[in-house]
Amino acid sequence: MFNCDNSTVLKVVLLVKEILNLIQIIGPIILIIWAMIDIVKLVTSDMSEEKEKKTKKQIINRFLAVILIFVIPTILNAVMTTIGKENIESTACWVNANEKYIEKKKAEEEKLEEEKIKADKEARELTEKQRREQALKERKAIAFNKPSKGDPNGGGILIIAGHAYQPECLTCGDCRGTTSSGYAEESETRSLALSLKKALLKKGVNAVIANQVLVGDENDERMNASFLCSRGGNGNYTNTFNKLEAEGYWDSFAHIIEIHFNATSSHTASGTMIMTSGGQTSNVSPIDNQILNTVSSFTGSNRGVQGYSGGTLGNWNFFKNKNKSITYIEVEFYDNKEAMHKYKKDQENMAEAVADKIKSAGY
Ligand SMILES: [Zn+2]
Repeated sequence: MFNCDNSTVLKVVLLVKEILNLIQIIGPIILIIWAMIDIVKLVTSDMSEEKEKKTKKQIINRFLAVILIFVIPTILNAVMTTIGKENIESTACWVNANEKYIEKKKAEEEKLEEEKIKADKEARELTEKQRREQALKERKAIAFNKPSKGDPNGGGILIIAGHAYQPECLTCGDCRGTTSSGYAEESETRSLALSLKKALLKKGVNAVIANQVLVGDENDERMNASFLCSRGGNGNYTNTFNKLEAEGYWDSFAHIIEIHFNATSSHTASGTMIMTSGGQTSNVSPIDNQILNTVSSFTGSNRGVQGYSGGTLGNWNFFKNKNKSITYIEVEFYDNKEAMHKYKKDQENMAEAVADKIKSAGY
C-alpha cells in the first residue's frame, strides 16, 4: 500500500506516532484535570439530582476514556494478531518511522537523484556518441561511395591517384617526390583525384578514390596508399585490397581513371597525354579522347594517346583484363613550374569540365 522505505511516507508515519504519544501523555492529564473540576463542582455546588447524576456519569466516562487511550492500541494489536494481520507496531512503516532511519533514507534518496541526473547525462552523451558514429558511417559511405551489389549502373567512376608517399612507395618502387618545380607527383594526383571526385558527385555521377578506400580514412588527406602497391602485394593495404577484390568491388565500376603527372630530364616539357600499356594505342575508349581533349584545352597542349614503352602499365592491364574501360592520363608535367602554375589555377574548373564530359557520356 505505502512504500514504507520512502522518507516522505515515513515522516508522515512518524508524525502520527508522535501525535499518538502526545495524546497518551497529555490526554490523561487533561481528562484528570477535567474530572477533578467536575468533582469539585459536585462537592461545592448545589445542583439538582438529575444534574448530579449526569456529572457523576461524566466523571466515570472521562476515567474510562483515559483507560481506553492506553488500552486501545493493545486491543487493536490483539485483534490484528487474531485475524492474522501484522501487529501495527511491528510493521515496516512503524518500525522504520524513526529519525535515524528517515535521515538515512533521505540521504540515500538524494544520492539516488544525483545518480539519476548523472545517468541521464550519460544516456544523452551515449545517444550523441551513437549519432556521431551513425553520421560517420554515412559520411564514410558517401566518401567511399561503395556501390551496392546489383547496382545496374555499377559503382560509377573509380579514381586512382598515382603513386604513394614514403615509406609505402619504397617497397614497390613508385616513389616520386618533389622536384625543382616545387610540385610532387603523388601530391598532385591526390589533389586532382579529390577535385574530380567532388565535381563528379556534384553532377550526380558516383565516384570513389581507390586510395581512400585502401586507406580507409577520408580524413587522411595524403591517402598514403598506392593502388599498384596494394594490388602487387606490397604495402600495408594488401589485405584490404584482396578483400575488396574478393567481393568484386573493383569490378563494379563503370570506368576507371588513373591520374598521373609527367616529368622529363629537361624539366621543360608540357602538355597532356593518354597512356596505354605496351603501345596499344588502338585500345582506347571514346571517353579517353574526350577526357584528353578537355584536359588539353586547359593545359594548352595535347600530346595525344601514347603507348607506354617502358613496360606494362599495371593498373591499366589489371582493369583491361577485367574488360573494364580505363583512362590513364598524364595531366601535365609536374617538373615544369610554369606549366604547373597555369594548371593549378584551372584545376577545379578543369575537374568540372572533365566531370561534365563523363556525365554526358552516360556514366
Ligand atoms: Zn606517374
